[in-house]
Amino acid sequence: MTTFDFDIAIIGGGPAGLIAAGQAAEKGAKVVLIEKNAELGKKLLLTGNGRCNVTNALFKTSELVREFGKGGSFLYSSLSRFGPQDIMNFFEERGVKLKVERGNRVFPVSDRSTDILSCLYGYLKEKKVNIYRDAQVINMIVRQNHIERLILRNKELTARRYILCTGGKSYPQTGSTGDGYRWATMMGHSVTPLLPSLVPIKVNNDWVKSVMGLSLKNVSISSFLEGQKKESRFGEMLFTHFGISGPIVMDMSQHLLELQKSGKVHVLIDLKPALDENKLDARLRRDFRKFSGRKLKNALNELLPQKLIPPIIDLSSLDPDKQVDHIDHGERLRLVSKLKGLPLDISGSLGFKWSIVTSGGIELKEIEPGTLKSKIIDNLYLAGEILDINGPTGGFNLQVCWTTGYIAGISAALSLY
Ligand SMILES: Cc1cc2nc3c(=O)[nH]c(=O)nc-3n(C[C@H](O)[C@H](O)[C@H](O)COP(=O)(O)OP(=O)(O)OC[C@H]3O[C@@H](n4cnc5c(N)ncnc54)[C@H](O)[C@@H]3O)c2cc1C
Repeated sequence: MTTFDFDIAIIGGGPAGLIAAGQAAEKGAKVVLIEKNAELGKKLLLTGNGRCNVTNALFKTSELVREFGKGGSFLYSSLSRFGPQDIMNFFEERGVKLKVERGNRVFPVSDRSTDILSCLYGYLKEKKVNIYRDAQVINMIVRQNHIERLILRNKELTARRYILCTGGKSYPQTGSTGDGYRWATMMGHSVTPLLPSLVPIKVNNDWVKSVMGLSLKNVSISSFLEGQKKESRFGEMLFTHFGISGPIVMDMSQHLLELQKSGKVHVLIDLKPALDENKLDARLRRDFRKFSGRKLKNALNELLPQKLIPPIIDLSSLDPDKQVDHIDHGERLRLVSKLKGLPLDISGSLGFKWSIVTSGGIELKEIEPGTLKSKIIDNLYLAGEILDINGPTGGFNLQVCWTTGYIAGISAALSLY
């Protein structure tokens, strides 16, 4: 009879691997968690700007799945088994108090992602999971749709089941370098096209450098492909030295990059979405009466952040030194038009290096949704960002990891008996 070093070997010590390891060990399996970094959860520590947006308290599965687009139906049954309420209970029962903020975003009360990671460490210790750190898996030896063993830098290792949790390609500086995609392809899995998602966007317009650091609230942006309007978002955004970022831009980034494959893409920023053109024109007339005698460049302070005034005047082809009393109807309308549609030409993104998640991944049709088991390799399970599922900001992406890690861990363990 073949003897194995472990029942289950889990590759990748991010959120998916951590929860999978604990769950598998809780079901009685002898588990090893293999991580190439010196520490587990390097990316987890960066989440939510170091505060960790653990999940989203959207408790109705039917509403939750909509956030994951085409990946939503795949996730339906597993989210019903282990959804946001379950991961919140998991942490709360282990002493990490949580709070719900705007947009149902859940954070630890301490605002420290280290508390989430420490809790998971404690859990693995309690369940006696073997942890290999500084241990890079270099290859997998596969024979007849079956993984025989793993090749690490200094040793080989065998297990009865393997769970692949190596994450995506985003923020490779944290260890997520896309190794899992390479092995999955080698084993016969398909990988859908990989794109940076939730990523800052680069633009061709030089003037944005002059407003770098400016954050705008309650604005809307709309995307256009070859002049045709596509989608809009409302909320908060930020100008950077290379382009635009912030919540609504990040959430729209995947869509913008997809559009770019088909042609020229630009966005229009509506700086005053609550006012239609007529109301905005009336507002300008009121301001110009109030600031009678002033130059245009000194008469827009109540309407716009200071930094935005010069580029808006310039883009409207107006003279900043002209007295507001002499601005005519046509000139005012040019101003209104730019305030309602500040144009930016999209040139690309900051790429995987700065993208929060990777869109695309292992083809879901090749994985059993109820167990996360590969339909191609008989002793392989997959969980986390490596799958072709991603959601918007707000805790949804970590929830994918908790849910799929939990199901993969339990299913792999139960398949042993
Ligand atoms: C800056 C930032 C902020 C984020 N904030 C949030 C947030 O607040 N809320 C949210 O929901 N999501 C957030 N995300 C997304 C979330 O962090 C990821 O979706 C999540 O970490 C993916 O988990 P994972 O376990 O699938 O993979 P990862 O976290 O990427 O972990 C994979 C692990 O596998 C290891 N590994 C890779 N290859 C090998 C190998 N060959 N051998 C051994 N080990 C290997 C890596 O070192 C890594 O530790 C954020 C992402 C970033 C970059």
